[in-house]
Amino acid sequence: MGERDGLWEDHELVPLSALEHFSYCPRQAALIHVEAVWDENVFTLRGRMVHEAADLPGTELREGLRVERALPLYSRRLGLVGRADVVEFHGEVPYPVDYKHGPRRRREHDDLQLCAQAVCLEEMLGVPVPRGAIFHASSQRRREVEFDAPLRRRLEEAVTALRQLLGQALLPPAVHDARCRHCSLMDACLPGATAPSSRLRRYLAGLWQTGEEP
Ligand code: SF4
Repeated sequence: MGERDGLWEDHELVPLSALEHFSYCPRQAALIHVEAVWDENVFTLRGRMVHEAADLPGTELREGLRVERALPLYSRRLGLVGRADVVEFHGEVPYPVDYKHGPRRRREHDDLQLCAQAVCLEEMLGVPVPRGAIFHASSQRRREVEFDAPLRRRLEEAVTALRQLLGQALLPPAVHDARCRHCSLMDACLPGATAPSSRLRRYLAGLWQTGEEP
């Protein structure tokens, strides 16, 4: 991947979903986007069902707002491509809404992905996008996200780190923490055996130590 005049070309664009996977767990992003591993669990199935409800392309007028569904997005500056579940237009100002399963709660990877959608809309439409919302399907409630400078900075950092990861095609170590309980890639990842802190890994390493000086 290279950068020309600060803009990325079509074949260099990275999916928005990779950014979400990366900000959840870098190893998850590498397994899916480098090693092409994918598996479903109850959380991915719920997520897919929620997205399918919002994934039918179309335009409607709702309470005086124009609402676009499954809107294609790109940013040549960040090198991202994907689509937005829903974009409401409050006058001329786009307001992205991303659908997530589960109850209303703040999660950094949700906020980064939504902020990335906002940056795409800003580049495509030439207008500022100051905020959007996550719609939490279980609680049927929205959580508004403000795209402030710290969130935008974290987005830029995450995109840079994601590009490095994809460019090097390396598999980062397993995080082996609470995130793994919700991850569909447990069987492919084996976090209990591959994490640097895992007891099994330390045990296996110990098998090769003879106590003799080399
Ligand atoms: S099982 Fe854990 S370490 Fe492995 S990809 Fe999923 S979240 Fe990351």
